[in-house]
Amino acid sequence: MKHIGDYNFWFLTGSQDLYGQETLNEVSKHSKIMVNELNDSNDLPCKLIYKDTLLTASSIEKTIKEANLDETCVGIICWMHTFSPAKMWINGLNALSKPMLQINTQFNKSLPYNTIDMDFMNLNQSAHGDREFGYITARMDINRNVIVGYWKSKTFKNRMSKWMRAAAATTSGKNLTVVRFGDNMRDVAVTCGDKVEAYIKLGWNIPYYGIGDLVEEINKVKDSEIDLKMEEYQAEYTIVEPTKYNLEHIREQAKIEIALEKFLIERNAEAFTTNFQDLHGLKQLPGLACQHLMAKGYGFAAEGDWKTAAMVRTIKLMGENLEGGCSFLEDYTYNLEENNMFNLSSHMLEICPSIAKGKPTIEVHPLSIGDKEDPARLVFDSKEGNGFTVSIIDLGNRMRIVANKVDVINSEKSFKQLPVARVLLAPKPNFITASECWILSGGGHHNTFTTQIDLETLEFYSEMVKIELLKIDEETTLSSFRNQDRWNRAYYG
Ligand code: MN
Repeated sequence: MKHIGDYNFWFLTGSQDLYGQETLNEVSKHSKIMVNELNDSNDLPCKLIYKDTLLTASSIEKTIKEANLDETCVGIICWMHTFSPAKMWINGLNALSKPMLQINTQFNKSLPYNTIDMDFMNLNQSAHGDREFGYITARMDINRNVIVGYWKSKTFKNRMSKWMRAAAATTSGKNLTVVRFGDNMRDVAVTCGDKVEAYIKLGWNIPYYGIGDLVEEINKVKDSEIDLKMEEYQAEYTIVEPTKYNLEHIREQAKIEIALEKFLIERNAEAFTTNFQDLHGLKQLPGLACQHLMAKGYGFAAEGDWKTAAMVRTIKLMGENLEGGCSFLEDYTYNLEENNMFNLSSHMLEICPSIAKGKPTIEVHPLSIGDKEDPARLVFDSKEGNGFTVSIIDLGNRMRIVANKVDVINSEKSFKQLPVARVLLAPKPNFITASECWILSGGGHHNTFTTQIDLETLEFYSEMVKIELLKIDEETTLSSFRNQDRWNRAYYG
């Protein structure tokens, strides 16, 4: 599985040969210092790779084409330290196939009032050069973002990190494989969709496999492998009531997990779906198995919901190494008391323990759906905090992303009879407006829930993949949301 730290970004400095070698040496020196300091700060999720200052159209085109071909490079970052006549960038920009960030910053923070002269002005003129570059990217309608600020500042580095996370997810998404065991749940609309379009637009490959292929892999799992997996479970979770019956059922999930992971690794897949209607040859619905794989970073969604499975993987990558967690989730049931409205989100079994408060327990209970043996699952309450839910849907002619900021609230009472993971969500701006907007937008009952990244990261992502993002947050009113929906329908067609 790929990790965020496996990726890098190329740092391209624009200039021209008009300035003379002495100035150009200074330009290169500054860029190198910036790249080294940014890398050494450990504030960025991926490494920056310094590239020589670009002085000609041919060197720009060559460098961008090399960036396109480099598998570990997931985007380029451009900075016009001095004035770089932008016609020189046209061929390179036409060839660019990866996300691009323009940073508008300056090596020095403050104006040196007492010493500033024309030489200094000519050397430090990104205010000038970055506008020329902005013009050509606007005219060519190049997909890009611009971040302005002092390069050492926390805010600047923080926004740059978010952009990098979104870019890594966008570029690595071009090679994302989502394995579907079985089709999507019979008669369900929102989990269906155009897989060819998803491949074209996002690079998501979504192959189908019969459940028998997995059963074959399950039958090959050795007892010694299960013993090791059980040790992992015991180290990470608490097994309540370790009776012979329960342990046997937990071992069955261990067996499924081992087989699932081998199956995914062999196919270079980082996400998968199951369907409780298609479990022929399996003793249990995969519960604990899916939960533990999600905790490792795999994308997952139930009922054949490949769009959500891919989005879980995408957002897990974007949030890797950050505080919090990310899970597949489903809007389940409401508390509708006046002034205390919230949503109890969960699923039959498969919620990722990365969002858990405290140590989850492993429990074995009957499951009325699926008609199989009692499955082992992780049970927990989720950690309080801020996050958002996101749904990606197919509108027939295009895809749409809907996201809602939420507070995860603490449960004042316990759920004695509910042996699944529980997530209590109070959406913003308030329960009623948020739920009305979500339903009006067509957002699904399944979603990806994260407390690791914020909406700005998702906004960067939606721009890179050119998919509409409808946000529901503190600012949202029902009428503004409906207008945005109408305007977006006109814009996106
Ligand atoms: Mn479901």
